[in-house]
Amino acid sequence: MFDPIEVLSPSVSDLDDEAYSLDDFEGVDSRWCHRCGNNAILTAVQKLCAEEQLAPEKTVFVSGIGCSSRLPHYMGTYGFHALHGRALPVAEGIKIRRPDLHVFVTTGDGDCCSIGAGHWLHAIRYNMNMTVLLHDNQIYGLTKKQVSPTSPRGLVSNTSPHGAHLEPLNPLAATLGMSNISFVAHAVDWVPSVLCDIIKQAFHHRGLAFVCIMQRCPNYLPDHFEEYIKDPERMVLLTHAQGLQVEDAVAKRFKHREEHDPRDIDRARELANNRERVPLGILYRNPDVLCYEDVRAGVEHLSVSDKISALEREFDKFTVQPPS
Ligand code: SF4
Repeated sequence: MFDPIEVLSPSVSDLDDEAYSLDDFEGVDSRWCHRCGNNAILTAVQKLCAEEQLAPEKTVFVSGIGCSSRLPHYMGTYGFHALHGRALPVAEGIKIRRPDLHVFVTTGDGDCCSIGAGHWLHAIRYNMNMTVLLHDNQIYGLTKKQVSPTSPRGLVSNTSPHGAHLEPLNPLAATLGMSNISFVAHAVDWVPSVLCDIIKQAFHHRGLAFVCIMQRCPNYLPDHFEEYIKDPERMVLLTHAQGLQVEDAVAKRFKHREEHDPRDIDRARELANNRERVPLGILYRNPDVLCYEDVRAGVEHLSVSDKISALEREFDKFTVQPPS
C-alpha cells in the first residue's frame, strides 16, 4: 500500500530558497472533499510551478466543468473556468494568441470524454504545446454520482441503478488511436512521486502532452481503486532512459516493471488496452510531431480593418436581395 505523504514530502522542502515558493501558487482554499485525489494533483502542479519557477502571470490553467475543473481557482496563476467540455478549445485559443504562456488544461472524464469528446480528438490532432491533465475518477462527482464514460460496466450509480450497461471508454487507448499524438502517459494520484515526475516530463514535452490520472473520489466511490492500491499485481511500472526513471524505493513497490521505449507505439497500444494490469508511466512520446502554432506562425496576420472587411464580405454572401 502506498503512503503519499512519505513519498512527496522530501522534495517539497527542497524548494525553500527559490524566488517563487509553493505559497505563490496557492489560490483560494480548496472545497474538494477530504482525501479527494484532486488534492494530490493540485499539489503536484503547484510543486511543478515552483520547481520550474514559472512566473504566475505567464501561467494559465484552463478547465471545463466538474469537480476537477475547480482547480484553476486553487492556483495562484491565471485561470479560465470555461463551459462544460470546452476547456481544450479555450486553451487552444489562448495558446495561438499567446504562445509565450505556459498553458495547462485540467479536465474530468465527463468533461473531456463525454461532452468535450469532439474537442479532445481535435486538440490531440492540433498538437498545440500544452499540458492536459485528465482527472479520471470514473464518476460524475459534482452532480452527485452519475455514470461517466469511463465508469466500469456494472457500476451502480444514480443514473445506472442496475449497473452501468456499457464497457467503459478507455482514454489511453482512444488517445493512442488518434492522429498526430505526441505524448501519452498514465498516472495515479496515490503515488505522488511518479505523478510529479510524469507531469514534469509532460510539461517539458513540446506538443500536447496528455496525462490520464486515476483519481480517487472517496465521497462517491470510496473503495473504487483499492484493488490497484493494495494489489501490486494490478499495475505495471513503465521505465526507460527516454521515459520515466524512478528511485529504487518506489520501483520496488511494483511487482511488475517493464522497460518500455516510449517511441514504440505498438507496444504502447498493447499496454493501454491491458485493463487487467494497468500501466503507470509514459506510454508514448514523439517530439517530432508538428505543433499547430508553429504551422500558423508564418501566416500573415490581418489588421483589424482587414478582418472587418473580410467578415463583411462573408456576411454579404448571405444578403437576400429584394426581387427586382
Ligand atoms: Fe473529489 Fe469526489 Fe468530492 Fe468531487 S465528490 S470533490 S471528486 S471526492
